Amino acid sequence: MKTITIFSGKGGTGKTTVSSSLAVMLAREKKIVVADCDVDAPNLGLSLGLREKDYSSSVKIRASEKADLIEKKCNGCRKCLNSCSFNAIKWNNNKNIPVFDELLCEGCGTCKIVCPENAIRLRKVENAEISIGKTKYGFSIVSGQLKMGESGSGRIVMEVKRRANEIARKQNAELILIDSAAGIGCPVIASLNGSDYVIAVTEPTPSALSDLERGLKVVNHFNIPFGLVINRHDLNKEFTKKIEDFAIKNKIKILGKIPYDKDFVRALVELKPAVIYNKKFEKLFLGILKRFKK
Ligand code: SF4
Ligand code: SF4
Repeated sequence: MKTITIFSGKGGTGKTTVSSSLAVMLAREKKIVVADCDVDAPNLGLSLGLREKDYSSSVKIRASEKADLIEKKCNGCRKCLNSCSFNAIKWNNNKNIPVFDELLCEGCGTCKIVCPENAIRLRKVENAEISIGKTKYGFSIVSGQLKMGESGSGRIVMEVKRRANEIARKQNAELILIDSAAGIGCPVIASLNGSDYVIAVTEPTPSALSDLERGLKVVNHFNIPFGLVINRHDLNKEFTKKIEDFAIKNKIKILGKIPYDKDFVRALVELKPAVIYNKKFEKLFLGILKRFKK
């Protein structure tokens, strides 16, 4: 079983639009499972036409921790006070004890380590929901959603991938397609880790190119083969040329160039993959898959 991850150095490049159409085209030739690992803003399910009620199951995940004080053990030594890099510890002068700010606490455990009285414990908290559904295009989707203001996105991505793997094994799927978060943060690293191939989606803007360069350093770190899709290439031909030059210089395969077309927006509004909304896009995405396989 292979894993392909769709990735972009920055948000707004059309990564999910590419993911949904590639998923539909791939599912016509093999059994696949898709995983939405963009856990801060998952919308792959939506672009495949799934609404909340269409998911057959969902589970709450407790993959985050928060510091708690065991008050009777605290001697007020203040050793924990300056140990927090997230500024999550304040001081209650009346009671002479630390106070932990739940919103700022990242559950790193440093305060627990420095406390000589063992007066701090880490409490598991619910930080995400993982939903599983079946699309009308014949394949299952696993989607993770991090709760607002919660941390632990990397761990949620790992859990989404674990469940997608489980389903893929049960269904004898040949491929898992992952829609990763944008950027180079924790959820992206967790998405890329273990992938067999990465499809990077970019657009012809200066910020997209510099973010792509940074992102590809991360992909290279994992030693994963990758190819490039340039979205809305015709909006800035000069910059598209710069991206192509960058690709040639770095021996990166360009898998495809997608033109700007209002039908991509119309497809999103109708909650349809572009290749379903308008068959004219099929050739474009088949071309990307063909070059990807070479
Ligand atoms: S667990 Fe880490 S983030 Fe939370 S209060 Fe302690 S030191 Fe700060
Ligand atoms: S380090 Fe431990 S004992 Fe000291 S103030 Fe903090 S919680 Fe209390």
